[in-house]
Amino acid sequence: MIQPVRADRPADSLHFQGSECGGCGEIYPNPALDERGWCDACRPIMRRRFRLGRHLVAALITLPFAIWILTLDRGATLAPPVWALPLAAAYYLGFRIGGEVVKGYSRWRRIPKW
Ligand SMILES: [Zn+2]
Repeated sequence: MIQPVRADRPADSLHFQGSECGGCGEIYPNPALDERGWCDACRPIMRRRFRLGRHLVAALITLPFAIWILTLDRGATLAPPVWALPLAAAYYLGFRIGGEVVKGYSRWRRIPKW
């Protein structure tokens, strides 16, 4: 496992070669981070956060929409089977928004390094 760059070591040489881990916020040389910008230690935690957070946000966006369709609209705007497409689009967008929410949450609540 590649160690993060510590503050007592010169960081100038890493200016264009290092990146911040999206989970713990430590600066690593670029090859130590995966394509999403997570270090080895943070990857399982970030994957779990992503898996839960994206579906949670997608459900929070889609469920009120689905409840509105079932209770208030009742086929007035579109026939009920046709609502599947806007609902799928809402879930997809919620899923993408959820990924950004998880990234923002992880910038706010860094994964501690032991
Ligand atoms: Zn990390």
